Amino acid sequence: MNVRIAKNSGFCFGVKRAIKIALEASKKNHEIVTLGSIIHNPQMVAKLESEGIIKVDNFDQIKKRPTIIRSHGVKKEILDELIKNDIEIINATCPYVSKTQDYAKSLSEEGYYLIILGDRDHPEVKALRSYVDKEVLIVANADELEDKQFKKIGIISQTTRRVEDLQELVKKLVPKCHEMRVINTICNATTVRQNSTLNLAKVSDIMIVIGGKNSSNTKMLAKICESFVKTYHIEIACEINKKWFINKQNIGLTAGASTPDWVIVEVYNHILECVGNINKVENIEDIPGFRED
Ligand code: SF4
Repeated sequence: MNVRIAKNSGFCFGVKRAIKIALEASKKNHEIVTLGSIIHNPQMVAKLESEGIIKVDNFDQIKKRPTIIRSHGVKKEILDELIKNDIEIINATCPYVSKTQDYAKSLSEEGYYLIILGDRDHPEVKALRSYVDKEVLIVANADELEDKQFKKIGIISQTTRRVEDLQELVKKLVPKCHEMRVINTICNATTVRQNSTLNLAKVSDIMIVIGGKNSSNTKMLAKICESFVKTYHIEIACEINKKWFINKQNIGLTAGASTPDWVIVEVYNHILECVGNINKVENIEDIPGFRED
């Protein structure tokens, strides 16, 4: 029986950076807060709490403590409020997300009607939208487009969407507008993870997707796998049922960009235990198939 992991699984550049910034800040301060989860992974959020990095859910709970801006950004109004209240800001917004916010703003200022491909309830998209004063259209896919003509449209995407969905949206919008500007703001880390997951799913009998149930990029990986093979989306090792592996020869693993290495290693070792293999590993790099490009 083979258990392999998709290369590049786990933490992306932006998440690694955000956690590093948060941990460094926690050494200099007694307590710091994050407004909302710093990343969409409950296990990592719990670990950070033990280091004095506390998640709060609203502005009133900040109580003047230094505040980390999470990797996928916050609404402009919140930033303004922090500045107004003289609260120290520790900005861990991923540079790719900041760049997308800049594009949203500049496209709108240049007179383009902004269309965002994304999940309108996702914090990244809510933050993105807040940088534009004018009307914005947010669609989860091309099917959500209204039957409407546009003069000049600017299209950007939530960083974790699929390139194919952006292509489809552009294709459907071409006959509906006079002028179009498309900026591909899908993060390369997302595309790389999706492609390596897809390649592994194609040759696996079962896929286990590890990551927060609230993580948009993890859910997208599960969606990709489901179209090829029986897929289970789990957060931690104890959710695994060993019956899943009966008569399965090739077991595939993948993990979202916000899934910590130690959670992935625990899942891998637990799968080995389920299939009666005793060759456990200590590090993600030791899992067959793992490679960091
Ligand atoms: S997925 Fe991409 S945009 Fe999002 S935090 Fe990671 S590197 Fe940044």
